[in-house]
Amino acid sequence: MDHEHMGEDLAKVLLTEEQIKARLAELAEEIWKDYEGREFLLVGVLKGAVVVMADLMRALPGTAPMDWMAVSSYGSGTKSSGVVRILKDLDTDISGRHVLIVEDIIDSGLTLSWIKSNLESRSPASVEICTLLRKPDVVKVDIPVKYVGFDIPNEFVVGYGLDYAEKYRNLRCVGTLAPHVYA
Ligand code: 5GP
Ligand code: MG
Ligand code: MG
Repeated sequence: MDHEHMGEDLAKVLLTEEQIKARLAELAEEIWKDYEGREFLLVGVLKGAVVVMADLMRALPGTAPMDWMAVSSYGSGTKSSGVVRILKDLDTDISGRHVLIVEDIIDSGLTLSWIKSNLESRSPASVEICTLLRKPDVVKVDIPVKYVGFDIPNEFVVGYGLDYAEKYRNLRCVGTLAPHVYA
């Protein structure tokens, strides 16, 4: 869906589809150069990273395999606690392989920090992170993120894979919701 289909629900467009695709194309080139011909496995975190993954992988100037994980993080209300349970594990053995985690957004970074440690315990050759969006709170945990699409303000955003109560994932842009949606 486009922002015109959002009616009164969208407060503002933060990033257009064109801006996002252009940035992902830049990141894809950078990633490809950095791995210098070595194979790397793209690991997406369901479900938010679905759209980022689709665009990022197609922007790569060569082929790369892909796998998925699904996790649930236990927390009080809307904030994640860092206590994570694996709902769907990788299909692939990653020992000795280069892994690139693909994420939609990093807020506190607690979930991703847990995922990264979990993957690192499986003896991969390396684990790096690529996220489309990063919020300012992430400075609270020491998690090195090699590839960042955009640093955004501390606002709740939807679209481009990101949901509010499972809605708006299919919105082409990234935007904020009008207050009445939460009411
Ligand atoms: P963290 O552990 O980094 O605090 O939580 C990251 C997860 O929280 C993301 O993968 C995403 O599911 C959710 N999240 C954090 N900020 C936002 C946001 O602004 N919008 C949406 N839709 N989800 C968010
Ligand atoms: Mg996510
Ligand atoms: Mg969500």
